[in-house]
Amino acid sequence: MNILVINCGSSSLKYQLIDSESENVLAKGLAERIGIEGSVLTHSPAGKDKFTRQEPMPDHSVAVRMVIEALTDKEHGVISSLSEIGAVGHRVVHGGEKFDHAVLINDSVMKDIEELSSLAPLHNPANLIGIRACAENMPGVPQAAVFDTAFHQTMPKKAYMYGLPYEFYEKYKIRRYGFHGTSHDYVSARAAEILGKDRKDLKIIVCHLGNGGSISAVDHGKCVDTSMGLTPLEGLIMGTRSGDMDPAVFDFICEKENLSPAEMNTVLNKKSGVLGLSGGLSSDFRDLCDAADNGNELAAMTLDTYCYRVAKYIGSYIMAMQGVDIIALTAGIGENSYGVRTRLMPYFKYLGVSYDEEKLKIRGEELVLSDPGSKVTVMIVPTNEELAIARQTLELL
Ligand code: AMP
Repeated sequence: MNILVINCGSSSLKYQLIDSESENVLAKGLAERIGIEGSVLTHSPAGKDKFTRQEPMPDHSVAVRMVIEALTDKEHGVISSLSEIGAVGHRVVHGGEKFDHAVLINDSVMKDIEELSSLAPLHNPANLIGIRACAENMPGVPQAAVFDTAFHQTMPKKAYMYGLPYEFYEKYKIRRYGFHGTSHDYVSARAAEILGKDRKDLKIIVCHLGNGGSISAVDHGKCVDTSMGLTPLEGLIMGTRSGDMDPAVFDFICEKENLSPAEMNTVLNKKSGVLGLSGGLSSDFRDLCDAADNGNELAAMTLDTYCYRVAKYIGSYIMAMQGVDIIALTAGIGENSYGVRTRLMPYFKYLGVSYDEEKLKIRGEELVLSDPGSKVTVMIVPTNEELAIARQTLELL
């Protein structure tokens, strides 16, 4: 069966059509600038040339129609008709406490996702728009919601409560939820599989290091802690997000710089992280590593600070799980960055990890970085959230 995986943002829609038997990606693409002037669809069919279609997309329903047209196009398409799409799997950002696993979408699920929008005002409404647009264009095709927060719902209360008045949890459900759950789930399972072991027998720390970044502690197959919180702002220093800091900084800067809370929120989400720390140099680790190699001290300090935060989280999760068997690195930086690996790996020597420096240069493939016989296995496991969504969608059917 072919499963269409959709990741819908407020003005964009990413998609992959996956054959669930072979798990091959038949086509993937991106509709951008939906509802804005200059809309464009970029469609990449497997084994054929990429093509772009520039045409107004006033709303997501038009975007979905154009995706279906691209998938079924005589020249650029990969299927002959809509009937070859067996199901749609949607990435939905916030499932709150309601959803601890993926579900098939019906009216009541849509209502729940809408109600959870107060916890993810930028994401859940966009996800819902994508769901409605697919329902309009593909009536009768089953749709599934796969939540970014679901995998973390096994966290114990001591890991997800903030030290705030309890009434805020009771009234507003203010607590830590965590994100990137589909990736943490996929990578921890795959890491065990690569080593020929069962995740249920292992303590695994997954470091999802991309433009957004989070770490999770997966104890015998269940997430027991993760670094993102109520929103994706908590935890690691990220591309443009600050991660953890003293909450008093918020007021201090608002007052000194005469910023509104909304403007300060933009600073913390879009202008901080490695971009801000490097004095505005770049949020991209390729640029930062090149600059550091060429003697830029601010870039080197930024990378050191980034890696120190990652190492501190790993250290705390080893204590939380009372041990660790596997540390798995994933996402753009985790899968590729030599500059980050050279700064991060020395922290693991304390755990009895030895490694060959040359191996740290290999990029983008499944790879064990630590030497055989190391007490802890450090490995690269490329993430594949779309495949994980397709698998979960299939399971629900
Ligand atoms: P993601 O959000 O998972 O797509 O990761 C994006 C980030 O990965 C980019 O901002 C880059 O900093 C980083 N990245 C991607 N490719 C490389 C590479 N070859 N070397 C270093 N960093 C990379």
